[in-house]
Amino acid sequence: MKARIFDIKRFAVHDGDGIRTTVFFKGCPLRCVWCHNPEGISFSSELEFNSQRCLGCRECAVVCPLHTFFGGVHEIKREDCVSCGKCVEICPGDCLKIYGQEISPEELLPKLTEDRDFYDNSGGGVTLSGGECLMYPGFCRVLLSELKKEGIHTAVDTCGYVPLESIETVLPFTDVFLYDLKALDEEVHLRCTGGSNKIILENLMYLNSMGAEVEIRVPFVPGYNDGEIEKIAVFLSKLKCVKAVKVLPYHNLAGLKYTALGMKNTLPKRVPTEAELFSARDIMKNHGLTIKE
Ligand code: SF4
Ligand code: SF4
Ligand code: SF4
Repeated sequence: MKARIFDIKRFAVHDGDGIRTTVFFKGCPLRCVWCHNPEGISFSSELEFNSQRCLGCRECAVVCPLHTFFGGVHEIKREDCVSCGKCVEICPGDCLKIYGQEISPEELLPKLTEDRDFYDNSGGGVTLSGGECLMYPGFCRVLLSELKKEGIHTAVDTCGYVPLESIETVLPFTDVFLYDLKALDEEVHLRCTGGSNKIILENLMYLNSMGAEVEIRVPFVPGYNDGEIEKIAVFLSKLKCVKAVKVLPYHNLAGLKYTALGMKNTLPKRVPTEAELFSARDIMKNHGLTIKE
């Protein structure tokens, strides 16, 4: 059994309580216009090319004809790239990188247990994230159950846009779900993410009925979902499973990643002001919700 991941981040402090190791799975069923992890969207491996670092040495073209330099402009025929990594290995400028590595639970587990002392001392653990980790439900179940055998705290960071069976599969081995909620209004949700929120709300209701522990993540994106905060607060205030809410300020720093991956940059320009964030958090608090900074 294998899954495709694109990163393992040690000493993460924003992916749940304490110090954690976060595994980023590749592939996401949504297409949020504000996504700051575009390397997590495609299920396939991808080549990143940071042109600012390129030395123009043309070594990559020697090992692969997909790199061309017509008129001095370095282009890559990405549609034919098989992510073999030969150009990455030879590049002296460190400007090429493959996102996407096939890995088994057995290979991954030792990388996740090595920081156990940090988890124990900080109340941390391991977080499965993405992309969308629950696009690999069987893999996640095996990994989470092994982590639980080791006595390690587990978190599943999900957009919720997955079949209910995927949630059921990991529920017995998940200590906390970090659950995204982007909009309650169906049309707003569709416009922002390309997907319906129906399944997301149903899955959250299921977690509530099962007595799961849930921390809600609300990305705050002015001009997109800022009109949803009050509705989200009212909805969440009725759910027992919600232990805390995090209002995440949108940032537009991922533009270079889109370019480096040859993707169309969809990032909104405007970022929230401190006053807007304060107000959004205040709305949540006024509905009795616990805010996590
Ligand atoms: S759910 Fe997350 S990873 Fe998927 S597109 Fe949206 S922001 Fe990106
Ligand atoms: S990863 Fe392989 S196929 Fe893709 S551009 Fe580099 S050498 Fe060519
Ligand atoms: S090998 Fe690297 S530094 Fe040299 S031209 Fe290719 S991408 Fe640029």
